Amino acid sequence: MDLFLMGRELVQSELNEGLPEEWEGTSSLGFIEIGKQITCRRCGANQPQDRQSAPCNCGDHCFYCIRCLQMGKIKRCSLLYSLTEKNQFSPVKEPVLTWQGKLSVQQEIASNEIETTIKAAQTRLIWAVAGAGKTEMLFKGIELAIREGKRVCIASPRTDVCLELAPRLKSAFQDVEQLTLYGDMEESYRYTQLVIATTHQLMRFKEAFDVLIIDEIDAFPFDTDNGLQFAAQKAKKTKGALIYLSATPNKKMRQDIAQKKLTASILPARYHGYALPEPKAMWAGDWRNAIIKRQKKAVIYKEINRLIQAHRRFLVFVPNIELMIDFSVYLKEIFPHCSFTSVSSEDGQRKEKVESMRDETYQFMLTTTILERGVTFRDIDVLVIGAEDRTFTEAALIQIAGRAGRHKDFPTGEVLFLHYGQTKALKSAIRQIKKMNRLARERGLLINQ
Ligand SMILES: [Zn+2]
Ligand SMILES: [Zn+2]
Repeated sequence: MDLFLMGRELVQSELNEGLPEEWEGTSSLGFIEIGKQITCRRCGANQPQDRQSAPCNCGDHCFYCIRCLQMGKIKRCSLLYSLTEKNQFSPVKEPVLTWQGKLSVQQEIASNEIETTIKAAQTRLIWAVAGAGKTEMLFKGIELAIREGKRVCIASPRTDVCLELAPRLKSAFQDVEQLTLYGDMEESYRYTQLVIATTHQLMRFKEAFDVLIIDEIDAFPFDTDNGLQFAAQKAKKTKGALIYLSATPNKKMRQDIAQKKLTASILPARYHGYALPEPKAMWAGDWRNAIIKRQKKAVIYKEINRLIQAHRRFLVFVPNIELMIDFSVYLKEIFPHCSFTSVSSEDGQRKEKVESMRDETYQFMLTTTILERGVTFRDIDVLVIGAEDRTFTEAALIQIAGRAGRHKDFPTGEVLFLHYGQTKALKSAIRQIKKMNRLARERGLLINQ
């Protein structure tokens, strides 16, 4: 029980065995009330509209938090139990790090900077382009922390990112106990030195981690959800290190870097040393109409046909699911012999379809922004249809472009933004990619200078 609760903050129903008789932890009410200011202890929500009144056995004026409801109800009368993190881990046998790969020059520099940040318990952003190999550059820092008996967490807003990270960490740290926490996990919680978790799961921790690493900080919902940002701060020890990873940090973070309020390591080159494919913007006219009215001669069909004829494999990003389905029906008519599929967030077969695309069963795949990050295919081109649509933010477009040319044997790829008028996001995405290539070149990190 002691270990179960160590570094955590849980309500009664989450304590699977109940509280022991000898109890050295603390219990606090669900909300912190100072004058008229009422704050949810778990997610930090403090606006009147964040709370809902409800009749309760405790008496009158009870309410609960709406913001973190998906993690279970926190009522005014709820008690949150926690026990101070005491890092009760047995020493890990050497070598702690069982990974034997080699870091690139820029990875090595970032890796050293991460170690320094961990030792000094500071905050740092690792701004690494898609394909820079950011996971590997964390290994040395994690090794150092584990050896010193520190508790380490790697969190991401996205479950699929956590699930992809877990086996890589398991093979890099074979003798370190680890656990992956996410919404519908089957395994039950146990105390481990290394934790992989969705950012939602951080709400159940309190001052637990000496090192907290958050991957894809700019991804939904972490980017817009203050509760998750609050949870991250709470899950980390007051004197803990915080490391953010992103290929597309938002404007606020970029400003903070420029004003030296945030320390950052910028990695402009890919692991394999080839430049990022620079997207081309191409006028496609009224592409929406071309889909709905089935105008076979429209630019979007011509471009798809060109790639099919060239025997290229490619991804086609479409702004929404309805259009994607409509488009896919018509494409089947025009290209009856071409093997392709479509995938969206509502697709139960998503995982299998992505696997088949990876196995090269399909020549191309239609998708929404669901595949903008986290997926790697060997040798593909990328088309974005309706790149001016507001679903395609600057970050989304940079991530999408980052799908091409990731493999060292196929380091190039075509990225085409088909649009009906260029947006600020589109122009800025292209500008940023070019800027990273320029920086990589200046630092002498590219193979073909
Ligand atoms: Zn809350
Ligand atoms: Zn109550």
